[in-house]
Amino acid sequence: MVMRPSKKVGIVGWGAYVPMYRIKTREIARVWGKDPRRYEEMLLIEEKAVAGPDEDTATIAIEAAQNAIMRAQIEPSEIGAVFVGTESKPYAVKPTATIVAEAVGATPNTLAADFEFACKAGTENLQCVIGLVGSGMIKYGMSIGADVAQSAPGDELEFAAAAGGAAFIIGETNHNVAARIEASYSFVTDTPDFWRREGQPYPKHGEGFTGEPAYFRHVLSAARALMEELSITPRDIDYVVFHMPNGKFPLKAARILGFSREQILPGLVVRKIGNTYSASSLLGLVSVLEVSKPGDNILLVSYGSGAGSDAFLITVEDAIEEKKDLAPRIVDYIERKRYVDYAIYAKWRGKILIPRRSGNSHAPKHWREIPQRYKLMGSQCEGCGKIYFPPRPVCPNCRSTEMVYVPLPRRGRVVNYTVIRQPPLEFKYHAPYVVAIVELENGVRITSQLTDVSPEDVRIGMEVEAVIRKLGEDGVDGIIFYGFKFRPALHNGNSHIS
Ligand code: ZN
Repeated sequence: MVMRPSKKVGIVGWGAYVPMYRIKTREIARVWGKDPRRYEEMLLIEEKAVAGPDEDTATIAIEAAQNAIMRAQIEPSEIGAVFVGTESKPYAVKPTATIVAEAVGATPNTLAADFEFACKAGTENLQCVIGLVGSGMIKYGMSIGADVAQSAPGDELEFAAAAGGAAFIIGETNHNVAARIEASYSFVTDTPDFWRREGQPYPKHGEGFTGEPAYFRHVLSAARALMEELSITPRDIDYVVFHMPNGKFPLKAARILGFSREQILPGLVVRKIGNTYSASSLLGLVSVLEVSKPGDNILLVSYGSGAGSDAFLITVEDAIEEKKDLAPRIVDYIERKRYVDYAIYAKWRGKILIPRRSGNSHAPKHWREIPQRYKLMGSQCEGCGKIYFPPRPVCPNCRSTEMVYVPLPRRGRVVNYTVIRQPPLEFKYHAPYVVAIVELENGVRITSQLTDVSPEDVRIGMEVEAVIRKLGEDGVDGIIFYGFKFRPALHNGNSHIS
């Protein structure tokens, strides 16, 4: 049955995020003694995106969400729901959505939840946001798909399992939407093609069983049913996006349904970033939105193992053009890359084990510091006007106690730095890393780690911007500390987020 909300809704803002590190298919093949040519041809994946040592599903979701807010040009407090779809939650028990909602400023008056359904957890939460906005329960809702996909070393999945995220803010169509969501359709069955049992680090899959009865049956059925119910054919569609476990499957699905290569190639981001799981089809949609014109029709079909597909028909509106450049585009992230070899990749993804201690419950202290760690809040003296970071209760300059919290600019320049090569045990996966003094645009100086940069590439005067990353964790079982670090500034980066 086709699903349509009673009020018309659309995409008010969208955002992508792809980590800067890549590993080539042929590097993975080299380590496991496989024929690199064969794997490149079989999968149609040249390289995949790898999360850095300070990135996880939460940090990836946060940057995608910030980009979506910049394009939506709304107050984060107007977002009535924040949903994160993922199969790689940082915590087994504790929502990812609250971390994201807090970091983007949507808390506390919002609904927040994590969704799970292998690679379609993003599109199913999009349907829920459509329902909430389309019934008038909330004004805006945010749907996110993000993953740092797991795969056992040497498994076939390792060639594709990648990291990335996409976020969408949905609102009624009278709120300057970039695209209308016409309708959706879902097709699900109990199909055990891929799973991960509780406590197991890596998923398993039914060899030779993932194609026909799983991916193709669900994707093709959902696509056909939606087109049939809306009385449209591939000729009425400008772009088609399918879930991308590799490059071959979506190309074959397109061929079977009668779509041309011109209709599918603009969204086929898997070749350059791999399978980003819950973000895969959504990043394909972002890629297509960023090259689309008003009036274009887009067919989006996700796939999640277990199994199911959600299909959507989306029509691009006039506001698309003015929104494209309000935040970094997906091509900015795809082109921003640095290659890592298998050893660095294995270290960062925790595939090389080092001894780790148990946690001490630093949760209360971390919780008190969340405003300054997530939102870069300083304190300003009402007496003399000086701004301090970290925030201070008393002004050291004029002794005033009239201090107010103020958001600090997110951009600045490196004024000095040092390279840490002998870190404490908990930072071993990150070494070497750089700690810098950053002078923000308003002159306030902050000591912070730099990220996404090699020590040899750091320069005094380098322009940097704040991003939220994992600062560390309280042992193997304690809480994860998130907070800002600075990275080399991106074109259209987050200077105006506060
Ligand atoms: Zn003062």
